[in-house]
Amino acid sequence: MGPPPPDTWARWFDSLAPSNIDWCEANYAISPYVAEFWNAMSSVPMTLVAFYGLYMSWRHMRYEPRWGMAWFLLGIVGVGSALFHATLKHAFQACDELPMLYCNLVFIYLMLEEKSAGRSPPWRVKAANLRPPRKRWLAPLLIASGVVQTVCYFLYPHVYELFLVSYVSVVAWLTIESVRRAWFAPDSTPLTRTLVKLALMFYLGGAALWIFENAVCGVKGEMGGGWWMQAAHLHAFWHAGACMGTYHFIEFCAARRGAALFGAENVSAGGGAMFMPLYVVHHQEEGRTTGERKRR
Ligand SMILES: [Zn+2]
Repeated sequence: MGPPPPDTWARWFDSLAPSNIDWCEANYAISPYVAEFWNAMSSVPMTLVAFYGLYMSWRHMRYEPRWGMAWFLLGIVGVGSALFHATLKHAFQACDELPMLYCNLVFIYLMLEEKSAGRSPPWRVKAANLRPPRKRWLAPLLIASGVVQTVCYFLYPHVYELFLVSYVSVVAWLTIESVRRAWFAPDSTPLTRTLVKLALMFYLGGAALWIFENAVCGVKGEMGGGWWMQAAHLHAFWHAGACMGTYHFIEFCAARRGAALFGAENVSAGGGAMFMPLYVVHHQEEGRTTGERKRR
């Protein structure tokens, strides 16, 4: 008998550079094929929530490409995060962290363009409230910023702080700006306040667990905090918090956009019962929304 055929898949996998972080969860404890099983599994719901958000935005809102971009990238973060935690390889770490940075760029767009006129103003648009879109420079600037972040990411693959600073600085701005718009802006509404409250509760709650775990375990955290930290799976709870925090943030942007297009009186919330999260409804023409119109 000759030698066994070369296992090219395994060799390719072994040749990949390791990630520059190793979370607290014990590696290969549950499955010999999945490095951090619970961290990987807890990433999957993010993609499902993104599908839910995308469907609801198509069904109940004036659908615009910006919602597709936001939900699509959130879905990609879920897939990237699952791959990263399952492999702990730098190539897949990039599949997680780069979409997180791109998501933030889309969120900046959502915030800055919430009151811009669309290409085809819908029925009952309060055009006086809308300003000309910044399409000449905003999208190119955000894309250029994404390219620069991507290049730096691969130029300095060992500098985890580079990702952390780019990510956290934008999140901080988004947080401050949403709080300002939800509580201190003249056009704030109870719905936008509720959505920002939920976004902050989920996101900051998850972030607190993430920070606590990192403080105890470090970013090369294998066994850093002992078995009890490994058993706590705080990083998996961070995934859940970040997912639902981001979900409610996008819905907050949708509520603000609906108010700009149709007036705050034509924006309401659906869901909210049992495990069904709140979603935003734009009443565009006598209670009918995009999906309902199309089905007729
Ligand atoms: Zn993670």
